Order: sequence, then structure tokens, then C-alpha cells
Amino acid sequence: MKTRIIRYTGRESLALAAEVIRRGGLVAFPTETVYGLGGNALDPDAAKKIYRAKGRPSDNPLIVHLGSAADAERYAVTGDLFDRIAETLMPGPLTVILKKRDMIPDSVTGGLDTVGIRVPSHPVARELIELAGVPIAAPSANLSGKPSPTSFDHVYHDLNGKVDVIIDGGPSDFGLESTIIKPEDGVIHLLRPGAVTVEMLSLFDQPIEIDPAVTRRFDGVPLAPGMKYRHYAPDKPLVVLDGCDEAVYSYLAERERRAVICFDEDLSAIDGEHVVSCGSKSDSLTQAQRLFACLRELDGLTDIDVIYARMPAKVGIGLAVFNRLIKAAGFQVLRLEPPTR
Ligand code: AMP
Ligand code: MG
Repeated sequence: MKTRIIRYTGRESLALAAEVIRRGGLVAFPTETVYGLGGNALDPDAAKKIYRAKGRPSDNPLIVHLGSAADAERYAVTGDLFDRIAETLMPGPLTVILKKRDMIPDSVTGGLDTVGIRVPSHPVARELIELAGVPIAAPSANLSGKPSPTSFDHVYHDLNGKVDVIIDGGPSDFGLESTIIKPEDGVIHLLRPGAVTVEMLSLFDQPIEIDPAVTRRFDGVPLAPGMKYRHYAPDKPLVVLDGCDEAVYSYLAERERRAVICFDEDLSAIDGEHVVSCGSKSDSLTQAQRLFACLRELDGLTDIDVIYARMPAKVGIGLAVFNRLIKAAGFQVLRLEPPTR
């Protein structure tokens, strides 16, 4: 298939992409989290095309993107807690799992009776939904299992020739996928951490339960099906190093043919060619923005056998950085003791 590339230059530049969505085709588009691969959420065949283009297992549901939280009631059963959350946090990087209505096809939700609803804040995503006039089902615009795309180049690399249109709208703002929550019986279940943090969710004065799949390997059935896949992963083995500066530096000094993802503060202390920083140690937002690009960049190298990454802080958006990193590493975390003298 020939993929059309559209550079976003204003609302008029999206007319063709909106038409493609309406006719059942696929459009990759920028959002404030990562790039999404969108199709008409009311068209079961469009969903099937999305699974095919990504090589995604069809039991891994797609998120439905709307222009406004007020439209959610049309496609899902909302409620007081949803309304309160939507009022403060939508539009934004948040997906809420609700009971679905019949007009959302089973192929969109991987056969579940619930649907993930998100109202993006990115102007291109918003204009595209508006012009298409239909809700847009969209997972991240990467090949299944690979790190999510945070730039046009990433999408082009993974999906050129497999989708109808790719819109170039610059880099993503947050760089990690949306926070996913499921409100149930007054409890907010956190299924996937993101830029909407636990601290922000605690403002609703409802109990928050962090799903076990967020912080560790979970062999049961996770509430968000995508959490069970080794996800976001580079081809090279990735190992997360958990330890103080001294322990990490001396461990890395003895390793060859390795690349390292570290913090700005580490750069002068770690030798070798392929050492990249994903931001300052205390700057979780920058780490989130850069993490997937770092993974893609280092994965392309031919003269390394393994990628090491430093353990991030787990508070605020750092919880999302930690979650994506341990999942990309297939939960390989090495605890390092300080060297003995
Ligand atoms: P992606 O946008 O590629 O990160 O994929 C969307 C993710 O949202 C999936 O992997 C699921 O884990 C989650 N998700 C979407 N819909 C539902 C749902 N109805 N119930 C639980 N999780 C969902
Ligand atoms: Mg994804």
C-alpha cells in the first residue's frame, strides 16, 4: 500500500485524513501522549485493519478517542465519578474504562464488555476527530511489542507501506501512553500509570488501587489486557540496574559491548561510546519524553549486545517511566550492592 505523508499545517491539511477515516482507512496521527494509529471506532473492519497493520493480538483492546467527554455517554455507561474525573482531567492523557454500549463493535474492545474512552488534548488529534465526525479507535502507532512512537520518524519506520496516511505533527508532549483507570464501586483502579499521576487522581477523595501488573510481573489476568505482553521492548536484551551511583558505575566499568541509558548527572562517570541520558535524575517528565526514543536509538546499534538502564524514581510521572522500563526489560532488574573495598 502507498502511504500518504501529510505535514500538519493547520486544519485544512487534515481534510484528506478525515475522509480516509470516514471511509474505513487508517491514519497515524500525533497526540499529547504518543502517536496513535486511528480508524473509525464504529466500523468493525477498521479495527481489524488496525490489528493487522500493527501485528497486534486481537484480544488487546483499542482505546476510543472522542472530541468531548460529553460524547462519552453515547458510547459507554458513564456516572458521577466519571463526570467528576472528566471535568478536571479531560481533555488530557487519561483513558477511563467504562461499560460499553452496543454501537462499539466487539472487535474494538477485544471482545470485552468495557471500552477505554479518551479525550485527547493535542490540537491535531482533536481537529481530526472533529473533521472525521466519528469516534476514532487508536492504539499506539508502532508495530506490536515495539516501543511506542514519540515522533513522526518512529511511525514512518514502523508503519510506512502498512497504513493509508501518516500525519507529521512534531514530537509528542509526554512521550508515554495515557494513564488508564477503571472506576468501579467508588474505587479508582489504576491499570496503567501515565502523565495523569496517582497524586492527581487522589484529588477525587476515592480509594485508589494500583493494579499488581503496574509494578511487577503478574501471571494472572491483568485488568488491562495490554499489560500482559512484553511491551515497548527493544530487540536487544535490556536490564534495569538498581543500586547507588558507586555500585552502578563500577558494574558498568566492567561491561563491554553495552549501551547505557542513564541520567544527566551520570554522563561524566560512565565511560564508553553508547551512553545516553534520558534527562536529569529528578526530572521524570523529561525521562518520560525521551525514554522510547532512547530505546529505539540504542536498539539500532550493531556493536552492542545488551542495554543497561538506571532505575528511575517511582513518584509522579516517574511511576509511568518505571512501569514502561521494567516491562521493556521483561522485568530483568539487577540489584547491585556497593563494591567492597
Ligand atoms: P495502546 O493504546 O497501544 O497503549 O493500547 C491500549 C491499551 O489500553 C491496551 O493494551 C489495553 O491494555 C488498554 N485497554 C483498552 N481498552 C481496555 C478495556 N476495555 N479494558 C481494559 N484495558 C483496556
Ligand atoms: Mg501500544
